[in-house]
Amino acid sequence: MSYLTPEQVEEIRQSIEKQRAEILEKVNQRNEDEYEPEVRGDDADIANSEGIAITMERLQTRDVRLLKKLDEAARWIETEDFGYCESCGEEIGFKRLLARPAARLCIECKQNEEQRERGYYHPRPRKPPKTLHHPDDEED
Ligand SMILES: [Zn+2]
Repeated sequence: MSYLTPEQVEEIRQSIEKQRAEILEKVNQRNEDEYEPEVRGDDADIANSEGIAITMERLQTRDVRLLKKLDEAARWIETEDFGYCESCGEEIGFKRLLARPAARLCIECKQNEEQRERGYYHPRPRKPPKTLHHPDDEED
């Protein structure tokens, strides 16, 4: 049984729908005014145009991924497991679910995951020691 009240679940459901609609709109808009790089024979301009196209593509990929997560959340919300951390099984919490309905991890596990992604294995990593830099060591 969920620790969330039916009203809270309903609020989260609406939050999912709202976020989904917003992203869909963004994605569709991008598809409409599809970016066409101008070719003017100027290398710098072409490189710049390609850079923009790549950025757009990345944004699109990120949004599509988020859309999928929201779709999953929309299915998840119908199940008994909804609202519990995928990793530790603790309650994710109403506020977090409302703000980030695609979240599958509690804030603690999420932070741990982010730290692991950055290459840290400890909850509160110390700053890495400054490496002494000698110009003489530089390879040419
Ligand atoms: Zn957790």
